[in-house]
Amino acid sequence: MNPKEKADFKALSNDNYYYKTALDAGNIVAITDEKGTIQYVNDNFCKISKYTKEELIGQNHRIINSGYHPHTFFINLWQTIGRGIIWKGEIKNRAKDGTIYWVDTTIVPFLNEKKKPYKYLAIRSDITERKLGIEALKKSEERYRDIFSNALVPILTMDATTSKVTEVNNPGVALFGYESKDDLIKNFDLKTHYVHPIEFKKNILIIFENGELRKTQHMKKKDGSLFWCSTFIKLNAEKTTIQIILLDVTSQIAFQEELETQVTQRTLELSDSLTREKELNDMKSEFVGFASHEFRTPLATILSSASILKKHTEDSNQENISKHLNRITSSVNHLTAILNDFLTLEKLRKGFVDFEINEFNFSDFMKETINEFEELAKINKQIISYSHSGELNVSQSVKILKNILLNLLSNASKYSENGKKIIISTSINETTITINIQDHGIGIPLKDQKKLFTEFYRASNARNIQGTGLGLVIVKNYVTLIEGSISFTSEVNKGTEFTLSIPRYHSE
Ligand code: ATP
Ligand code: MG
Repeated sequence: MNPKEKADFKALSNDNYYYKTALDAGNIVAITDEKGTIQYVNDNFCKISKYTKEELIGQNHRIINSGYHPHTFFINLWQTIGRGIIWKGEIKNRAKDGTIYWVDTTIVPFLNEKKKPYKYLAIRSDITERKLGIEALKKSEERYRDIFSNALVPILTMDATTSKVTEVNNPGVALFGYESKDDLIKNFDLKTHYVHPIEFKKNILIIFENGELRKTQHMKKKDGSLFWCSTFIKLNAEKTTIQIILLDVTSQIAFQEELETQVTQRTLELSDSLTREKELNDMKSEFVGFASHEFRTPLATILSSASILKKHTEDSNQENISKHLNRITSSVNHLTAILNDFLTLEKLRKGFVDFEINEFNFSDFMKETINEFEELAKINKQIISYSHSGELNVSQSVKILKNILLNLLSNASKYSENGKKIIISTSINETTITINIQDHGIGIPLKDQKKLFTEFYRASNARNIQGTGLGLVIVKNYVTLIEGSISFTSEVNKGTEFTLSIPRYHSE
């Protein structure tokens, strides 16, 4: 004990000395007189208030008043202790340097014989940390409340065990189509609002494991209408509350779906046009190959005839001259025919064929076409018969019909021996023109029939008869263009019959 302590010890009784020491060690202690003037402060008091003992003694407690508590707070305090009753409470004070500190305070009035207080003992403990923590918590809670109620996105909180809604903001109420917050809290349940309530329960399990979950789900409004919702679900640290932030993404999803369909459609279109492009390219290269082969014979004929002609012009053998001139003409005609077929097909493919529709007498047209054909094909000398039944007037493209018929007749003639019969019969009812062209020629082997309408395809029994294998492709394209149909039956060495069905009136 130092001398001061020794003096204190003497002044107080033995026990009292230890009480005081214990009190001073653990607390902030001050003693005032009955008016509140500070008479004693311990070291803890000085430490926390940052005033020296000299600065404090003789002063009033107002020196450390922070201004936080209302005036009535201190009136109440003084009234209590003035009546000799112990006062307890938490006080926010201001230290000399302006910093704030909180103290849990007990003020014990010392009473004289008349039960009047003659001094007050104030025992305080520092609770600044706890108080500031609570204040910060309160502030953050307020901030959270603000965010929650002012947020433009719908937010719900649910009890993690019962899945009952405990809080909802206005956008949340609107999203689910409720009248008010209370209406929603009272009536919201998983069965009504989740298309797959079981999935929601599964989600809860995931959330309990991971703490949060992002998911787009199909949900229902109060009236049962469906919508897509992107949700962010989070479990609080205590695992008692789930917070769900929702975003109606129905229109985005619809837009996305629309976009996907468009992409698929465009891709299909693109692949279609690529295929067409490729077909065209294939056909062009096929033509180059074909032309180099097929043109060789007529060109060689032209060349040899021309050189023979040169000789015969010198000896002026008229018979030979005209024979070779005929060969040249026929070769050139053949080349022209091939080129024409090609150009026609290319135009048909690109849809560049324009045609006129005329009203005409069908039987007259047929007779004219057959005459024209006989002129062309008189070398073969087949016997052509023609008959018609039914209506006569039609409205169709003369140009296209003639082209189709000349092609089919040319085949019938080309693939039949001289003197064989070619039978043409036509009939017209209210809506349809039917044309039959029957020959008694070499026929088409069964195995070749399927591929007959393919470019350059020629049946195995026709290879030594001149042809390019384009005629029927052109026919097919023309028939399609005027919305008709074509079919055939054939037997080797018995003959072939082509049947056409064509609208009587072309639809504009
Ligand atoms: P072109 O392009 O000069 O008409 P092509 O006659 O060979 O040549 P298509 O008219 O398309 O070509 O006919 C294709 C193939 O079908 C012929 O090569 C032939 O094998 C067969 N064909 C067509 N019509 C008949 C027919 N009436 N009788 C027998 N075979 C036929
Ligand atoms: Mg042909």
